[in-house]
Amino acid sequence: MLRSDVDRTKISPMMLQYLEIKEKYEDTIIFFRLGDFYEMFFEDALLASRELELTLTGKNCGLEERVPMCGIPYHAYKSYLDKLIDKGYKVAICEQLTDPKETKGMVERDVIQVVTCGTRLDDSLNSKDYNYIGNIYDFEYCYGVSFIDVSTGYTYGVILDYDKDSLLKEILTYNLKEVIVNSKIDRSIVTLLREQYNILVTIRDTIYEQDDYHYLTEDISDIRIKTTIHHLISYLLETKKGSLSHLQKVELIDHKKHLLFDTHTKKNLELIETIRNRDRTYSLLWLLDKTKTAMGGRLLKSNIENPLTDVQEINRRYDIIEILLTEFILKDELREELDKVYDLERLCSRISYGNSNARDMIQLKNSLIALPNIKRILEEIHYDKKIEVFDDLVELLEKAINLDSPIGLHEGGLIKEGYNSELDELKNIRKNSKDFILELENEEKERTGIKNLKVGFNKVFGYYIEVSKGNIKDIKDEYGWIRKQTLTNAERYITPLLKEKEDIILGAEEKIINLEYKLFTDVREIAKGYVSRIQKVSKVIAEVDMLLSFALVSEENNYIRPILTDEHMIKIVEGRHPVVEKVNKKEYVANDIIMGNDTDILLITGPNMAGKSTYMRQLAITVIMAQIGCFVPCKSCIIPIFDQIFTRIGASDDLVSGDSTFMVEMKEANIAISHATMNSLILFDELGRGTATYDGMSLAQAILEYIHDKIKAKTLFSTHYHELTTLANQLSHLKNVHVSAIEEEGKITFLHKVKNGAIDKSYGIHVAALAQLPKDLIERADEILGVYEHKSIKQETFTQTSLFLDIDSPKNVEQDKVYEKLEEINPLEITPMDALNILYELKQEIKKGTH
Ligand code: ADP
Ligand code: MG
Repeated sequence: MLRSDVDRTKISPMMLQYLEIKEKYEDTIIFFRLGDFYEMFFEDALLASRELELTLTGKNCGLEERVPMCGIPYHAYKSYLDKLIDKGYKVAICEQLTDPKETKGMVERDVIQVVTCGTRLDDSLNSKDYNYIGNIYDFEYCYGVSFIDVSTGYTYGVILDYDKDSLLKEILTYNLKEVIVNSKIDRSIVTLLREQYNILVTIRDTIYEQDDYHYLTEDISDIRIKTTIHHLISYLLETKKGSLSHLQKVELIDHKKHLLFDTHTKKNLELIETIRNRDRTYSLLWLLDKTKTAMGGRLLKSNIENPLTDVQEINRRYDIIEILLTEFILKDELREELDKVYDLERLCSRISYGNSNARDMIQLKNSLIALPNIKRILEEIHYDKKIEVFDDLVELLEKAINLDSPIGLHEGGLIKEGYNSELDELKNIRKNSKDFILELENEEKERTGIKNLKVGFNKVFGYYIEVSKGNIKDIKDEYGWIRKQTLTNAERYITPLLKEKEDIILGAEEKIINLEYKLFTDVREIAKGYVSRIQKVSKVIAEVDMLLSFALVSEENNYIRPILTDEHMIKIVEGRHPVVEKVNKKEYVANDIIMGNDTDILLITGPNMAGKSTYMRQLAITVIMAQIGCFVPCKSCIIPIFDQIFTRIGASDDLVSGDSTFMVEMKEANIAISHATMNSLILFDELGRGTATYDGMSLAQAILEYIHDKIKAKTLFSTHYHELTTLANQLSHLKNVHVSAIEEEGKITFLHKVKNGAIDKSYGIHVAALAQLPKDLIERADEILGVYEHKSIKQETFTQTSLFLDIDSPKNVEQDKVYEKLEEINPLEITPMDALNILYELKQEIKKGTH
C-alpha cells in the first residue's frame, strides 16, 4: 500500500501524525521513533528493507490493509543510518518529544535533525579530508557558488561566469557529495551532477533572512555572494536544526591565487590516489603526508589540489622549512607536541553544535595542554604567526570533567569530585546508603545464621534479600521480611528498611544524573565561547604541521629548495620523480630538464618503456611540489611560477561519458589549447595515437605548431611519430630530446637517460619480444617493419612547413616546373586529348624528381 492510497479519515491518530510529518520531508527517509525502535513506513519501509536487508512487516492502523513497515533498534541505529547516507539518501530523525510514561494521549513527535552526506558532523567522517556541501545559485547571467565544511566551519564563496564548463570544474574541484541549487538552474546540469557524478542534489529557493549568520558575509560587499551563502545557510539550518555558530567568515575564492588544473590532471598525475587502484598509497599525498594532526592532513591535501601562485608566500614556506631543517631538536619536540593535538576544528564544531560528549572535552583539554609548548617552540624558530593559549579553559576542564567519562551524557560519571558541592553531597548520600546496605547484609547474616544470604538489586524489584531454598526454613516472622519473588533455587524478600534506603539511593541517583548533565552542558557552553579563538589557533597548527611534514620528507629524501624566477625558463638538474624513486626497487636515473628562454617545447622520443611518461610527470610533480611550498627532488632547480597545468597522459577511455579514447584526447587537447597561457605547463603524452597513423601525426604536428606560434607555453610532448622530429628545423623554440636505450643482439636495455636530439627507432618490436610474444610472430613483425621503413623513405610527407608561420619552404626544381606548367593551362581552351598529354608530361617531371 502506498501513502497516496490512504484514507485519512480512517487511519489511526499516530499514523496521521506520521503522514503530516512525512509531508514536510518528501525526499527524505523518516526514522520514526516508536519506543525502542525507529520505524519506517510505506515507501520508506520498502526502500529501507531493500537497501538494509531488513524484514518487511506491516502495521495495523485502522485500515483494511496493513501499512508496510520495517524497523531498527534505536540503540543500534548508527550503522544503518551510515549505510543509507553512504548510498546517497537523506534521513530525518523523528524523536518522541514527550515522555510516553507521563503523556496522556499521543506522544508529541518531530524531526530533530536531517542527516545528509554533506552535513555530517559525527565521527564517520574521514579525518584526513574536508566534507564540503555546496550550492549553485543561478542568477541567470552568472552563477554564485559557495562551499561549507560543516565539520570544520570553513566557508567559501565565488561568482562564476555564466558558463557550464567552469561551473562544473568548480564543483568537481571540491569533491562535493551534496549540492543545493535554486530552481532557475538548467535541469541538464542537475541531471549531470546526479547521474554522472553521483552528487545528491536538492532544488530549493529559500534564502535565510534572519540576522544570526550575517557575520559570515559582513566583510563582503557583493550582494550576490551574500545571497548565495544565505541560500546554502537556510538549507543547513533546516537540516541541522542546531547552532552553526562555528561557521567561519566567508573566504572568497580567487583563482589567480592558485595553480589550476582539472580533475583529469589530478588523476593523471596521481596526486591524491593512484590510477590503477584508486588507492592513496603511492600517490603524491601519500609521499608528502607526515602530518601529525587531522587539520594538518586536511590542509596538505587541499594544498596539493590547489597549489599557490604567490611567490612571497611560497618563499615564506621555504624559509620556514629551512629553519626547521637546521633546528632538529626543536623540530622533533614540535612533532611530539603536535602528536598530542586532536582534531580541534571538528571538536569546535561539535561543541558549538551541542553534540560533543565528555570524551570530546577531554580531547579538547589534552590538545590545549600542548599549546604552551608549541607556542614556545614557534617563538624560538621565529615563526611569523603566533598562537594563543587557553590556561583558564584547561583549568576548568581539568577541574570539571571526569577522566573516564562514558560516551553517553545521561548515565552520570561525567563530573569530577570537588567541582560542585551539591553533586558531591548527593554522591555522599548515595554512597552512605550503599554502604548501609552492605552492612545490612552482614547484620542479617549474623542475626539469621544464614551464611549464603545476600543482598542484590534488579531493575524491577529494587533491592532484595536472597535466600536459597534450603535455608528458607530458618526465616522467622519476627524479621518482618516480605516475600517478593520466587526463583527455582531461591526466594527473594524485601524489608521496610531496605526500601527506605533504596528510595534514598534511587532518588539521589536520578538527581545526580540530571545535575551532572546540567553541569556538563554548562561547561560545554563556556567552551563554546572559546570556539572562534581556538579555530584561529587550529589554522596555525595545521600550517605548522604541514610545513613540518614538508621538512621531514625533504630531509628524508634529499629534496632541495627551488629558486623561483621571473624568467620564462626551467632549469632542473638531476631531477627525479619522487614517488617512482621511492617505490621502485631499481636505482632511479636522474634527468635534467632544461628549457631556456629559447625553448618552449621538448619533443620527446624513445622506445616504449624508456621513461618518457615518467619524465613528463616528473616535471609536473616538481612544479606542484614547488608551488605548495615544499622542497623538490633534484640537485638544483630554477623554475617560474606556473598559472595552470594541462595534461593529456595515458589512454584511458572516459567510460562514464562514453567518449572514445580519441575523443577524450581531442577534448583534453582542446581545453589545453583554448585556456593555456604563456605561463602554463602542457604535457601531451603521445597525443594522437588514438586514431589512424596519418591523422594522428597530422594533428600532433598541427597542435605543436599552434602551441609554438600562438601560446608559447612550456610544453613536453612525447611521441611515437619520429617524422615529427624534423619539426625542430622549422620551429625555433622546439627541441628534440630522446630517452635512450641500447640494443645488443636484438635485445634492448633501458637506460632511462634523457639526452639531446632525436632517436630514429621505436623498438616497439623489441618491447614485444620482452613481453615474450611468440618468436615466429616477432620475426614476422620485423619483416613487415622492413617493408614499412622502406616505403616511408620515399614518402616524406609529413615534414611540411608550419601552417601558421608561412615561411617559404625550399621546393625542389621539379615541383616548380610542374607548378609553372599548371599555371599556364586554361582548361576551358584545351581538348581532352591535350589534357591527357599534359598530364603525361607532368607525371614525367615528377618521376624525374623522385629518382
Ligand atoms: P614510456 O612512457 O617511455 O613508455 P614510462 O615512463 O612509462 O615509459 O616508464 C617505464 C618504466 O620505467 C616505469 O615502470 C618506470 O618505473 C621506469 N622508469 C622510468 N623512468 C625511470 C628513471 N628515470 N629511472 C628509473 N626507472 C625509470
Ligand atoms: Mg608512456
